Amino acid sequence: MCAIGNGQFKVRTAYGDQVTHFDAPLPKDKGARDTVTSPAITSLAARSHYCAPDSYRIQLVYMIPAGAPDASAAMVPLIRQHFIQSNDMVSNRAAQYSGDLSLRVACDSAGQPAVRVLRSSHNNSDIGAIDQEVARQGQRITGQDNVVYWGDGGCGGGVAYGSGDTRPGVENAVNNAPGIAVVYGRCPFTYMLHEQGHSMGAVLPNAPNTSGAGHCNDDADVMCYKDGGPNSGNYRSNVCPSPNGNLDYYWDCNVNDYFHPNPPAGSFLARNWNLASCSNRMVYRPNCG
Ligand SMILES: [Zn+2]
Repeated sequence: MCAIGNGQFKVRTAYGDQVTHFDAPLPKDKGARDTVTSPAITSLAARSHYCAPDSYRIQLVYMIPAGAPDASAAMVPLIRQHFIQSNDMVSNRAAQYSGDLSLRVACDSAGQPAVRVLRSSHNNSDIGAIDQEVARQGQRITGQDNVVYWGDGGCGGGVAYGSGDTRPGVENAVNNAPGIAVVYGRCPFTYMLHEQGHSMGAVLPNAPNTSGAGHCNDDADVMCYKDGGPNSGNYRSNVCPSPNGNLDYYWDCNVNDYFHPNPPAGSFLARNWNLASCSNRMVYRPNCG
């Protein structure tokens, strides 16, 4: 257990099953997903990313598979852009519901999200092998969520670990372990946000619109798709109709399954793990006290 300077603590726990799942690119992912924005409808401006000085943060990584060319000149700015877009979507969504929130990230000296370039000793694209390589290079750190872009090919989907820990407090398992999420090649930015969403604990198996397999059934939503889980028969593409047809338009359609900065008393997100809560060590909320 270690103090993080604000009276709260992180502990490593063995709680919960960690189940990987693979998010393959879908037909819905074609098109203009990279241009999706989520406009704020309140006067509260979206907050820029927060450059976290400690290890409780997202660390962006471009990993070059063994034998592959170094495409960092293109990939580093792309990954940085995807993070800024992800933060913008999350922060604007919080602002829509009177929350002042941004994502905690490792930055460079100029205050921009830092992208660490690592050359892999192998070319095994399995998430476990990638995590091992991250560890071998000293970057598997308690509290840190690594987001690894593997190679520079066309979009090959993404993968992360599911959580299933419903506990609402800082003791939640997703807070207290090294995180790993992988995006294969050049996908839309919402792939980064989707996989990092898993690393932060979405979507819980008892959420109101759970698919039963780590996603949600109420599109348009970054974390939802018809994934074949036990509840997938309830999937609907138009619960929150997308203004432009892009099914990654909203970060938590109806703010009731994984993200609400001010959940109504007694609601699911008031009683269970909520990615927008002050307990999530991957978000910065200046008003959490
Ligand atoms: Zn997923």
